[in-house]
Parts: sequence; C-alpha cells; structure tokens
Amino acid sequence: MKLSVIIPCFNEQKVIEQTYQVLSNEMKKLPIDAYELIFVNDGSGDKTLESIKSFAQHDARVKYISFSRNFGKESAMLAGLKACRGDVAVIMDADLQHPPMLIKDMLKKYDEGYDQVIATRTRTGDSAPKTFFSKWYYRLVNRLTDVEMKDGAGDFRLLSSRVIQSLVDLPEYNRFSKGLFSWVGYNKYYLPYENVERAAGASKFSLKSLLNYGVQGILSFNDKPLRMCVKLGLFILSLCIVYIVAMVVEFFTKGVSSNGYFTTMTAILLIGGVQLLSIGVLGEYIGKIYYEVKKRPHYIIEESNVDKS
Ligand code: UDP
Ligand code: MG
Repeated sequence: MKLSVIIPCFNEQKVIEQTYQVLSNEMKKLPIDAYELIFVNDGSGDKTLESIKSFAQHDARVKYISFSRNFGKESAMLAGLKACRGDVAVIMDADLQHPPMLIKDMLKKYDEGYDQVIATRTRTGDSAPKTFFSKWYYRLVNRLTDVEMKDGAGDFRLLSSRVIQSLVDLPEYNRFSKGLFSWVGYNKYYLPYENVERAAGASKFSLKSLLNYGVQGILSFNDKPLRMCVKLGLFILSLCIVYIVAMVVEFFTKGVSSNGYFTTMTAILLIGGVQLLSIGVLGEYIGKIYYEVKKRPHYIIEESNVDKS
C-alpha cells in the first residue's frame, strides 16, 4: 500500500525542515510499502520553496507543487489531492500541529474499512473566547446547512482513494473543504487527539480571515439562509399587518393620536435592517455565482516535480 501525505505550506521556513524530518522518521514506522510527501508551496514569500527543493534533491519521495502566488489553503489541498498517487492520502499542516504519530492509528482504522478517518482536536490551549465562538458557530452551521460539521474536526484526515476521486470531481470554485469532506459522505471515523501548539512561526489565519471563512462555511452549502430571509420577511410583514389593523381600530374608536414618532422610527429601522440583511445575504450568493461563472482555475502552478500524467 502506498501512502501520500499532502502538506500545504505558506511561509513555513521556520518549521518546514523539522516537519520533514519528523514525518520521514514517522513513515519508517508505518506498515506501508511506499510513501510520498507532497509539499504544496502556496506562494510563500520566504525560503519555504528552497527548503522543499533541497529535500527533493536527495529524497525522491518528496514531491512539490509551487503556486505562482498565494491561492489559499483550500486550493493547496486540492492541488495535493489531484497530484497524489497513493492508495490513501493524509492531509496535514506544515507546522506540526497535526501530530504525525496519529497517522498510524488512522491507517489502522482505514484497514478496518473506514474511508475517512478524521482527527478531531480538543480545544485545550485555545483562548476562552475562541472556544466559545467556535462552539456556537458549529451549532449555527449545523442548523443552517445540510452537511454535518463537527467541532474540532479540521483538515487533518485520512482519505481513501475513492473519497479523493469524489472530492477532485467536484468542480466548484468556492471550496469549503470541511463541508465538502462531509458532503461526499462514505463511512467516517473520528479520532480524537490533544491539541498542540504550532512548532514554530505564526498562524496565517487572522480573525478577519476566520470570519470570512465562517461566512463562507454557512453560505457554501445550500440556500437555507435565503429561505430564512423569506421567513423573516413574512414575519415582519405579518407584524406590520397586525399593527396597521390595530391603528385603524384605534382611529375609529379613539380618533387620531399624534404620538407615533417612536413606533414610526422603530418600524423604519426594523424593516430597513431586515432589508439590508436580506440584500446582503442575496449579494453573497450573487458574489459566489459571479466567481463560479468565470470558471477560473483554482490555482496556477509555477513549478513542480510531479509528472502531469
Ligand atoms: N496555509 C496555506 N495557505 C494559506 C494559509 C495557510 O497553505 O494561505 C497552510 C499553512 O502553511 C499551514 C496550514 O495551512 O500548513 C494551516 O495554517 P496555520 O497553521 O497558519 O493555521 P492555524 O493552525 O493557525 O489554523
Ligand atoms: Mg497551525
């Protein structure tokens, strides 16, 4: 059996060497016939690519794909999945936050017949607000979308070749892997592990990019948010009708009353807010359609030692 390990790297020069050593050592302990390490350089501005090339020079099992600029981790993972030649693939971060020791257990579960073995991290070491928001975010996502996403289940996972094929066959431009992994289905096994800090360097995801990622997660999978806008609109409309009826009744019973400033303002602000929100949601979907219809490639490969066949 051949194992492919896919490692997206973006400005990881501080840690990449260590990652390569640790991974190579770990590979020796695994019950496999062959392996390949696919490093996807996602437009790093530092010496990451030089390091990867130096590994490749003396180790034929090291493959690399280098993008012409930073296309994001989603694109890097896709490139890795397209390039891998193994019977199974494991996707993992370059910063050793995903413990390579876990690959052994993942393979065991694969042998038991699971197509996806998903490492789920605990949240020890995360800040309290981050844990809190993540928990609520996952509740929201699971309510708003058709796919099931589990808190702590990230991109660190083993995929069988048929899962890889299904993923690669999905042509969409807006890729939200966490959802796609879940969407393709097959039998999954969740493998818990203790959260680890990154070995060196800094996280590439700022609060802003996490927020964008979060919105993308909710909107990528179906049109439930649009339906919610319709429901919200109907709710506000019925409130308005009740209010108008009440006003008319009051007019005929008590005559004109002039203290309507508060209610007028509330109505304007409330309806205005709901309208803006709904237009925003609509706009997000149109934005997605805009990117889909352009049919641009997910990434551009500048150089690589993976043969195209
Ligand atoms: N990464 C990438 N492209 C990007 C951002 C990140 O390929 O645009 C890679 C990064 O090199 C790392 C992994 O994605 O291997 C996870 O990134 P990071 O450790 O910064 O995220 P965190 O663990 O803090 O969520
Ligand atoms: Mg990390």
